Amino acid sequence: MAGRAPTPARVPLIVGNWKMHMTGGEGATFIRALADKLSAARDREVFVAPPFTGLLEAVRAASGTSILVAAQDVFWEAEGAYTGEVAPGMLVDMGVTGVIVGHSERRLYFGETDEQVSRKVRAALDSGLSPIVCVGESAGQRETGLTEEVLSRQIPAALSSVLRSETSSLVLAYEPVWAIGTGKNATPQMAQEAIAFCRERIADSLGEDAASLIRMLYGGSVRPDNIDALMAQPDIDGVLVGGASLDLDAFARIVQFE
Ligand code: PEP
Repeated sequence: MAGRAPTPARVPLIVGNWKMHMTGGEGATFIRALADKLSAARDREVFVAPPFTGLLEAVRAASGTSILVAAQDVFWEAEGAYTGEVAPGMLVDMGVTGVIVGHSERRLYFGETDEQVSRKVRAALDSGLSPIVCVGESAGQRETGLTEEVLSRQIPAALSSVLRSETSSLVLAYEPVWAIGTGKNATPQMAQEAIAFCRERIADSLGEDAASLIRMLYGGSVRPDNIDALMAQPDIDGVLVGGASLDLDAFARIVQFE
C-alpha cells in the first residue's frame, strides 16, 4: 500500500536579524566572537542579517566559518533609477546568500504589500539568494480571530511565483507581529499550531512534498529561556531572532538549543 512519504530531515536554521544596529566593524567583531563560541561542528545553519552597510565586512568576517550572511531586504529590479534600493545581484556579488523578505516592520513602516513581497521573493530566487519570507498577524487580528485569514492571504501571495522545484531554497518565518520586540512570545503550542497551519497553506500552493521540505521558523521574542521548548515542536525548524541576536551570549545559546 502506498503510504505518505517520510518527512525529510530539515536542518535547523537560526537567523539573527540585527535590524538597524551595528556598524560594519562592530558586526565583524561580533561574527568572529560568535564563530569562536560555535566552533564545535553542529548540525544547524546560522545566518546573521546586518544592515546593508555592514554586509561586506560581515561576509569577510564570516569567511571560513560556518556562519552565513543575509540581507534584511532587497529590491526586485536588477538595476535602474531606483534611488536607495539594492538589487539582488549586488548582494550576491558581495557573498550574501540569503535575504529576509516581507518583515512586518517593512510592511508596517514602509507600506510593503503582498504583491511587492512576491516580486522580491521571485527576484531573490532568480539571483540564487535564499528568501526568508515573513508572515504573521497583528495583535488586533489575533484578538478578532483573523489569524488564519491573514496567513491564508499572505502565504499564497508570497509564494505565487515560486515553482515547486525551488522550495528547498525557500524559508518561511511565522512572526506574530504582537510578539516582535515586545517580550510577549507566542507559547510553543501557539507557535506550533500556527506553523502547522502555515504548512497546510504551503501544501495548498505548492503541494505536500514542498510543504514538508520548506523550513518554517518562529520569530517573536525568542530568548535563551524559551528556545528549547520552541525547538521541541515538530513543525518548528528554527527561529528568527531580533533583539536577542545582538547579545553574543544569548544568541550563541539560542543557536545551541537542546
Ligand atoms: C524580528 O525582528 O524578526 C524579531 C523576531 O524580533 P524580536 O526577536 O526582538 O522579537
